[in-house]
Amino acid sequence: MTIRHHVSDDLLLSYAAGSLAEGWSIAVATHLALCPSCRRRLTVAEGIGGELLDSLPHDASVDDAWASVRRRLEQPSKAPPFASRETSASGQGDGLPEPLRSYLGSDIDALKWRPLGRGAYQIPIRTGERETRVRLLRIPAGKPVPEHSHGGRELTLVLSGSFVDGENIFSRGDIEDADESLMHQPVATADSDCICLAVTDAPLKFRSWIVRAIQPLLGI
Ligand code: ZN
Ligand code: ZN
Repeated sequence: MTIRHHVSDDLLLSYAAGSLAEGWSIAVATHLALCPSCRRRLTVAEGIGGELLDSLPHDASVDDAWASVRRRLEQPSKAPPFASRETSASGQGDGLPEPLRSYLGSDIDALKWRPLGRGAYQIPIRTGERETRVRLLRIPAGKPVPEHSHGGRELTLVLSGSFVDGENIFSRGDIEDADESLMHQPVATADSDCICLAVTDAPLKFRSWIVRAIQPLLGI
């Protein structure tokens, strides 16, 4: 598994400083669970983040969100560590890494998916804050997400399968960081359904009026 798309410096620094809302932190922590090179970057960022934190005014709500993700990360888990799953006999390597496991359970096959239409499914993930919306998305093999732009930032982290967006392919562990300037249409590759973690801080702006019309029902 080679990760090609990594967490940006600003996210990693905010994460290290403990100033990132819980939703974004889940995406960053999940990427870190899968990416040794960003874990090394984090060690450096934590040094810088510590100094930043000392120089910033105290914000209890941010401290709480941070503590909540950290607690989940630190909880001992009965499931085998992720590395051993990756090399297990079943060889799928698509289990849920921490911290997702403590939000959703360890069994990716037992998840309760809700239909989004056109063969796509989602599972909303509850967090303790209102700044972000966090969900798992399952895009059927070979199918696109409806073309959209963004009212804010959107982080998409692949957990299983792959999607193509323009020139880039995103596979397990890869994170796509989109902002208001990007209009895109990710397409799941034909070999399998693509399961991703998606975090947004504003509703998506769909190009199709049909999708826009049903958007409030879907909560995306
Ligand atoms: Zn990385
Ligand atoms: Zn998007």
